[in-house]
Amino acid sequence: MSAPVIQGWCPGALRPMMSGDGLVVRVRPRNNSLTASQAEGLAAAAIRHGNGYLSLSNRANINIRGVTPKSHPDLIAELMALDLVDENAENEARRNILVNPVRPHFLGDPDHYPNVPIADALADALAIPDAPRLPGKFGFIVDLGRGLRHLARDIGDIRIESAATGWYDFILRADGMPTGKLVTGDTAAGLAIEMARWFIDSGGVGPDGRGRMRDHIARGAQLPAGLAGDVPAAPEARQPKPGSYGGGELLAFAFGQVRAEKFSWLAKAGGSIRITPWRMVYFSSGLKRRRDLHDDGDFITNPADPLLNVVACTGAPGCPQALGPTRALARRLAPRVPQGKLLHVSGCAKGCAHPGAAPATLTATAPDRYDLILNDTAAGAPARTTTDAVRLTATDLFPTG
Ligand code: SF4
Repeated sequence: MSAPVIQGWCPGALRPMMSGDGLVVRVRPRNNSLTASQAEGLAAAAIRHGNGYLSLSNRANINIRGVTPKSHPDLIAELMALDLVDENAENEARRNILVNPVRPHFLGDPDHYPNVPIADALADALAIPDAPRLPGKFGFIVDLGRGLRHLARDIGDIRIESAATGWYDFILRADGMPTGKLVTGDTAAGLAIEMARWFIDSGGVGPDGRGRMRDHIARGAQLPAGLAGDVPAAPEARQPKPGSYGGGELLAFAFGQVRAEKFSWLAKAGGSIRITPWRMVYFSSGLKRRRDLHDDGDFITNPADPLLNVVACTGAPGCPQALGPTRALARRLAPRVPQGKLLHVSGCAKGCAHPGAAPATLTATAPDRYDLILNDTAAGAPARTTTDAVRLTATDLFPTG
């Protein structure tokens, strides 16, 4: 099996990545939020210049696929008019900030709760010329939510989170550390940038330009006293599922992909759209015209839908690195995945759709051959190899129940 190509960077809008079906243009909505008119404009642009679909990434970004080099400049002009593009590719790449989509209302407006002001301050600090030169995948998390963390399961190197000590207590925590330092809405962004500088200065970035905070901490890196603390993070919120959640409503798309025209319809039915890293969108005030939604095969509204228990990347033929197809197999196997379990089907060992460990992963090693990996990532050691993956039973996939 050939090793996957590690790019070490993610595509952006200004710096798209070539894939098997054309350019992948990744749009990073500020604060993971789109106004209704931005959502409608984005959908129209995906129809005009892409393959007519929008897909959500696990960093709460939106991919437009199937863009040609010829149509890319026109697409960028439309995205700029919608205020969805950064000043330059470098700023775009550095603004890797995941913001809690389930923001509580504060003074009558969810954007007044410190999530958005802190994320805005971080984005501004990352856009100045002498901002820390962080690795391509290095990211920040702003996860404040009245004594709960909604992004606790999501990857982020520098984390500003709700603390266990009170509804209005926040901590700054380096990923990999069990506790963090108490911060306020005014100090959080500045100290997070200081932590990013410490990460670079203390050798967190390898000679290949890559590096993650968790690995750096695991290698024994010691945070300076001004960035360390002993305050535990707040408990995790319940696992997100379609339906009512945190006072609003979550809506899922199978494999995080939706027809652009349906996305546009959603903007009309629900107003502004928050993009989550869970391949779902969130409507803070619920979704009007919900009845229309029930009959629509584009959306997943049932929290027990078997498709919620599988994740699969683009796979073959869309991704040039894929060694086999993914989504059709995941659809076939989904009904065999017990509730509470997760099956990851990956086109190669890179595991883009689910970088962490999963109870069961099928990693393609040839067009009709898959490694079955248990409780590990897509690059883990296989428990078995099969050329007949479609016949795998629930017991084959989850032998320990
Ligand atoms: S994991 Fe999937 S999407 Fe990522 S490089 Fe491999 S085949 Fe492509």
